[in-house]
Amino acid sequence: MTKALYKIASIPGDGIGTEVIPVGQRAADAAAAKHGFSIEWTEFDWSCERYAETGRMMPEDGVETMKAFDAIYLGAVGWPGVPDHVSLWGLLIPLRRELDLYANVRPVRLLKGVSSPLAGRGPEDIDFIVVRENVEGEYSEIGGRIYSGTEQEMVSQQAVFTRRGTDRIMDYAFRLAQNRKRKHVTSATKSNGIVHTMPFWDERFAEVSKKYPEVETAQFHIDILTAHFVQHPDWFDVVVGSNLFGDILSDLGPAVAGSIGIAPAANINPEGVYPSMFEPVHGSAPDIAGQGIANPVAAVWTAAMMLDHLGEKDAAQTLETAMEAVLSDPASRTKDLGGTANTKVCGAAILKHIER
Ligand code: ATP
Ligand code: MG
Repeated sequence: MTKALYKIASIPGDGIGTEVIPVGQRAADAAAAKHGFSIEWTEFDWSCERYAETGRMMPEDGVETMKAFDAIYLGAVGWPGVPDHVSLWGLLIPLRRELDLYANVRPVRLLKGVSSPLAGRGPEDIDFIVVRENVEGEYSEIGGRIYSGTEQEMVSQQAVFTRRGTDRIMDYAFRLAQNRKRKHVTSATKSNGIVHTMPFWDERFAEVSKKYPEVETAQFHIDILTAHFVQHPDWFDVVVGSNLFGDILSDLGPAVAGSIGIAPAANINPEGVYPSMFEPVHGSAPDIAGQGIANPVAAVWTAAMMLDHLGEKDAAQTLETAMEAVLSDPASRTKDLGGTANTKVCGAAILKHIER
């Protein structure tokens, strides 16, 4: 149900996160004004900088605090000198797990004005969505190491797939496909090599697919699937994968659609029990941070996904239309896309398009 006012938590985070999130917020506000609703932003300084000062990425009750919001809009966390496990386990993973954000969704679409690294491919060839299971699977903490430092040293790690967890991510993928033109879901598997979890994954895929007779299906082993992403991106519509396979595909996908500076992502709690979290695919980009040259399009596309999730389809469409119009004009493209515009110029062009 749509509302007159949405309460959104914004976490700009580190590096270029702090440069692109304000652009996304202004764009979302402008789209909201156009479509008759408003957004109340509450900003949180959770970041590696905060970690350096206080020893914590976010306060102890951070996850609890987020539950009061309709959505979370996150820039990027991570900074040289702060180990990745600090930013991951101190912020991203607790949010994903405790808010049950089990669907990680990355649209992969080649926009006009962006060139794909795949020679000869145009916008009509690349338009699919990667859906990654985000809370179970291969990334479990079950396992251990014995006989450390000896010749007998041995490590094991267990992957955990529950029927509930597997079915619900597949249901999500099928529901997504139902609302798309092609109505097709591809499953990423590896049941020829992984003999317990992946045959189960295939079984559940076959079972869940029966509920969606109008949706076509395909499945590939992850190895050949990565090759097909590069050689036949036009085969795909919705692609569903486990935590590990989905992780790999959700980086490969945006790469075939051009710059990481435009790729959006969402961590979704489909039932809406908890707020979902929206963050661009890119990281904090320390190499260009502080120069004002980051591409703000990923943040704007991510904001569009957020408005869409909140039920504000028209406002989301307004953002996407503006972003595509701006990308097709070389004068407002940023350096990563071969243009000369900086963050400010590109952001202003998007805003102008929304407001006109
Ligand atoms: P993380 O580990 O946080 O995921 P990373 O270090 O793997 O991040 P990014 O921070 O995304 O990767 O940066 C990868 C490269 O892409 C860098 O060279 C960076 O400058 C460039 N890049 C990332 N985002 C943008 C953007 N919005 N605009 C322009 N260039 C970008
Ligand atoms: Mg990094």
